[in-house]
Amino acid sequence: MPYELPTDDMTLAADSFRKFLHAEIKPVVKEYRDRHIPKEKMRELTRQIANFGLPGCTVPIEHGGMGWTYSAQGMLFEELMAVSCDVAICVMINNGIARRLLSASPALRDRYLPGILAGELFGCAGISEPDVGSNVAEIKTRAVRDGSDFIINGEKTWITNGHYSDFIICTVKGEKGLSHILVDRQEHGYETRNIEKIALNSQSTAQVFFSDTRVPDSNLIDGEGEGLKNTMRMFEHARAHVGMLSVGLMRAALEESIAYSQQRKQFGKIIASHQLVAAKIANMAMLLDASRLMCQRVFGMIDAGVRCDLEASMAKAFATESAVRVCRDAVQLHGGNGITKEFNVEKYLREAIIIPIPDGTTEIQRLFISRRLTGISAFV
Ligand SMILES: Cc1cc2nc3c(=O)[nH]c(=O)nc-3n(C[C@H](O)[C@H](O)[C@H](O)COP(=O)(O)OP(=O)(O)OC[C@H]3O[C@@H](n4cnc5c(N)ncnc54)[C@H](O)[C@@H]3O)c2cc1C
Repeated sequence: MPYELPTDDMTLAADSFRKFLHAEIKPVVKEYRDRHIPKEKMRELTRQIANFGLPGCTVPIEHGGMGWTYSAQGMLFEELMAVSCDVAICVMINNGIARRLLSASPALRDRYLPGILAGELFGCAGISEPDVGSNVAEIKTRAVRDGSDFIINGEKTWITNGHYSDFIICTVKGEKGLSHILVDRQEHGYETRNIEKIALNSQSTAQVFFSDTRVPDSNLIDGEGEGLKNTMRMFEHARAHVGMLSVGLMRAALEESIAYSQQRKQFGKIIASHQLVAAKIANMAMLLDASRLMCQRVFGMIDAGVRCDLEASMAKAFATESAVRVCRDAVQLHGGNGITKEFNVEKYLREAIIIPIPDGTTEIQRLFISRRLTGISAFV
């Protein structure tokens, strides 16, 4: 499927979003840099961002969203990511949660969706566990029926937005297999503990603990036992979005590398005029552009209602690994300055290293891709 050029409306929306981000969000994230942004402060940011359509861009107008295309949404995510990886990831999770709530009962949807779309509430998706990462089918968190309730016990880990979260859409194992249950932190109760990482510490990645947590079965999203199928569907969308986040990161690294190469002088001339530096800039730009095209192709396919699991895996693997290469080149191009806190590129590299891991590692994407092409599974 060919990539469609953005319309004038999409370009206009992305331009005004970029101006807002530079004026209002960039100063705040610069102040925090690697420090944790407290929930109330993050909420101030997500509320402002919600005015520009994220996270509800693709949510139909009748449910309070903007009713825009995934292609347009991808452009907004690129802008947000180019300014803050932390805030972008937080909003991206709320975006996935908003889409998932569209499959919930009207009562659940109407209770949680408006808050998510307004940037007031934080949701999270609990799939991974200490012993369950790449192989989602092995999930151990148990949901045992007790009349019209479920009793949940178990532990989730690496949960983005976990510490901020007002509710979690938790993947649990029951008698009929995996299911998704919405658990409210206040009403049903769960504990969280934030995880310190090499980067992305301004947002929250957390462990989530359930201990005899009682939740009514009306909080099931879709039917009992439909969790594995729906988790895979969530991944299809999430992978292209994670790819697009990498595009934003690459763009920030490239823009700063271009600016630096135009002013830094060595051997009596600006380094952009040294051919090896020029080649580095060209390579970075090509990786960025190819990644953007691959991700936007997936968004175009989602908009057209076409199956795109193969393309989403390719886009995710290519874009996230390209971001590692581009950000590494950005540090190299900055020389010694590149590894100091005075410049952003060291932070970009630390962030880039993380992104090939969530929503299926690069190795897992390659296994998906080859299985789709050959029909043979090389997973075990
Ligand atoms: C920043 C961040 C945010 C995250 N957010 C969330 C979230 O919001 N919700 C959530 O549920 N999870 C989240 N995750 C978890 C993420 O999805 C898992 O980390 C990921 O699926 C990998 O699982 P693992 O870390 O347990 O690694 P493992 O599955 O233990 O893999 C370890 C290594 O072995 C490789 N490997 C595993 N199996 C195979 C195989 N068959 N063939 C070849 N290589 C293999 C992997 O590629 C990897 O390199 C997040 C993770 C990160 C880092």
